[in-house]
Amino acid sequence: MLAFKCSKLLNRGLWNHVRTFAVQADPSAAHGVQPGMPGISFELSDEQKAYQEVVKKFAREEIAQKAAEYDKTGEYPWDVVKKAFDLGLLNSHIPPEYGGPGMGSLDACIITEEMAWGCSGITTAIAANGLGQAPILLAGNHEQKKKYLGRMTEPTSGNPLMCAYCVTEPGTGSDVAGIKTKAKRQNDGSFVVTGQKMWITNAGKANWFFVLARSADDPTTPINKAFTAFVVDADTPGLTVGRKEWNMGQRASDTRGVTFEDMVVPKENVLGTEGAGFKIAMGAFDQTRPPVAASAVGLAQRALDESLKYAMERKTFGKAIIEHQSVGNMLADMAIGVQNARYATYRAAWEVDQGRSNTFYASVAKCYAADIANKIAADAVQVFGGNGYNSEYPVEKLMRDAKIFQIYEGTSQIQRLILSRELAKRAKQSGG
Ligand SMILES: Cc1cc2nc3c(=O)[nH]c(=O)nc-3n(C[C@H](O)[C@H](O)[C@H](O)COP(=O)(O)OP(=O)(O)OC[C@H]3O[C@@H](n4cnc5c(N)ncnc54)[C@H](O)[C@@H]3O)c2cc1C
Repeated sequence: MLAFKCSKLLNRGLWNHVRTFAVQADPSAAHGVQPGMPGISFELSDEQKAYQEVVKKFAREEIAQKAAEYDKTGEYPWDVVKKAFDLGLLNSHIPPEYGGPGMGSLDACIITEEMAWGCSGITTAIAANGLGQAPILLAGNHEQKKKYLGRMTEPTSGNPLMCAYCVTEPGTGSDVAGIKTKAKRQNDGSFVVTGQKMWITNAGKANWFFVLARSADDPTTPINKAFTAFVVDADTPGLTVGRKEWNMGQRASDTRGVTFEDMVVPKENVLGTEGAGFKIAMGAFDQTRPPVAASAVGLAQRALDESLKYAMERKTFGKAIIEHQSVGNMLADMAIGVQNARYATYRAAWEVDQGRSNTFYASVAKCYAADIANKIAADAVQVFGGNGYNSEYPVEKLMRDAKIFQIYEGTSQIQRLILSRELAKRAKQSGG
């Protein structure tokens, strides 16, 4: 019932409702995240447990019910996105000053994991707002935040506003510094942007885009001065969105190319300073990789839950297949993977909430959760045998959906590259 009560509240509903609930129960529970608290705890706050329950119910009753249909049609899941907005599950990290609930990273991960249990494709459609907004939160000025974040939290009877992070190009993804989209400054301070982007989540539904372009002509300009970041309204003349791509999995999510032809971007839409774009675009990932990891954990937990149920019901050689040691071991390994991925994710998110650099922990979590979710989903298909290979059963979709976690927001190879660099940096700092 809590979910349905919450659904009547607009945007900040979930947070306000649960906050009231928790503070009534324990007046000291003003917020789940308490920076500087000593020691270690694996216990979520009452408040966190309360909204975890709300989202769990929403994922089971709303998201999971629609997952197969949106996977088949590839249509954008507006009805679910709208319900999620009404519950307060979109834009959770926008500060109260701009109309959002200002939730912490750990809070967002708890929500994301539960949603992804229902469908990680629908969750990507929802969570892409967080990716688009992260650079604005990081580098936007007050006016930009008010204009672009503020509008996303306003109550609406129509579809909620979505946004997109527009960096990858047909010729380059991992090597972000290789992007070719050009931004040329005009005498009045505006920029003319020309180029092509690819694989942009939410592109067909976005109200605005975060865009990274090369603003330095000189190829020897250092990376930290060569790129400029912009926030661009979707209806800007010169911006064209391509056809929806038909991907292996997560088909509820809308992925497209975007083209800029002599698109004029006013100077007020430059994020940070001219030339500072690369750091802004990359800095966003420290915030967004923990929720991506959380989404992979949600998918992995679903694969485990489905496998466990099936393995206890399905009988071969006169007993439930879970009693065959090699099947039981597969389930045990799935549980080990889910637990470890979840705690790695919590750690990465907790570092953000402590206000510390989390590059290392974000890559550990994103890489491990992505890799293990793929193994767990593939093992789930194995547990289901022939049925696992068929779309009438839920696990083949999990296997297809899982793959993207190893690709977007930095591939698993790139996470390892980041980690090896971080390790070398630490070793040098400690004189090792
Ligand atoms: C469904 C989907 C949604 C996406 N959403 C967005 C979005 O919203 N916004 C956005 O900007 N982008 C988005 N992307 C793009 C995504 O981030 C890139 O696809 C990803 O970063 C990889 O880039 P690439 O495809 O160009 O592969 P490449 O960079 O060409 O890599 C190819 C292979 O080489 C490996 N590789 C490359 N360089 C190295 C290296 N130095 N060391 C080791 N291995 C290496 C990679 O790991 C990969 O296995 C999305 C992609 C997909 C498929």
